[in-house]
Amino acid sequence: MSDTECAFETLQPEEIEVALRSMGLSNHQLQYREVSESTNSDVLNYYQTHQQPSIAICEKQTAGKGRRGRSWHSPFAQNIYCSIGIEKTIAAGQLGLMSIVSGIALCRALSTCGFDEIKLKWPNDLYHQKQKLGGILIESKPAGNDGYFLVIGFGLNVFMSRQQLDEITQAATSLSLINQNEINRQQILLTAIEAVMAEIQNFDESSIPEVIQKFMRNDAFHQQSIAVLNAGDEICGVNKGINPSGLLRLATEEGEQTFSAAEISLRGLE
Ligand code: ATP
Repeated sequence: MSDTECAFETLQPEEIEVALRSMGLSNHQLQYREVSESTNSDVLNYYQTHQQPSIAICEKQTAGKGRRGRSWHSPFAQNIYCSIGIEKTIAAGQLGLMSIVSGIALCRALSTCGFDEIKLKWPNDLYHQKQKLGGILIESKPAGNDGYFLVIGFGLNVFMSRQQLDEITQAATSLSLINQNEINRQQILLTAIEAVMAEIQNFDESSIPEVIQKFMRNDAFHQQSIAVLNAGDEICGVNKGINPSGLLRLATEEGEQTFSAAEISLRGLE
């Protein structure tokens, strides 16, 4: 069966455009493609050419991006692949918080859609019962005098089957396996866009203590023993959440250490 004959319903871009306008997002150009290399690249390229933020969605990514060059499984019309461009006045030291803030927004959106118990794995993953449900990839470019153009990309597994998920190199799940009720992929997408946009736009320095608290409440590995993996090295300790820059706090036998998302991957040990 070819992609375009697939059994899953595709998104309705005209309806999405109307919904985005009613959310007050008329400044954002909607980019809809059946097949895209990567929605993050679509938003970056559009900004480069038009100096205007956009929202890119697609049914399938041929080069979906994870962190550090890793790839994101993106089968046709089964999941959500979305990137949002936002111009934001923000200090460089707060950029690491943007994936945390986006993750908090996505947990809230999924709860609104009836999916409770979705958790975050620092710095950029959504988890359900220790299985990966989605991921966030933030890219940024300096823009203006005191800000950045942020690209907030997220992928959420919606209808991927157990068989397809088993092809992924780590334990993964999808919304249809968590909750057997009827699932409206487009409605989840719109709820997610609205939540991410609101959380990122409302974020400023005064929000940081609340972000730290919210992350703690949503942390899949809160106060648990974890291993931090860095180029073959493994450091074990107890997960203490994040500091005001979004760095991971790890209590080790030598005292507390912090880690930046650029360096490491986290693994649960319990
Ligand atoms: P890790 O999850 O290993 O700590 P990470 O958070 O940096 O690393 P990402 O780079 O964000 O991971 O995502 C890429 C990884 O996610 C892939 O290497 C693969 O293991 C997994 N993956 C890829 N596609 C999917 C998907 N659709 N659903 C769940 N997991 C996926």
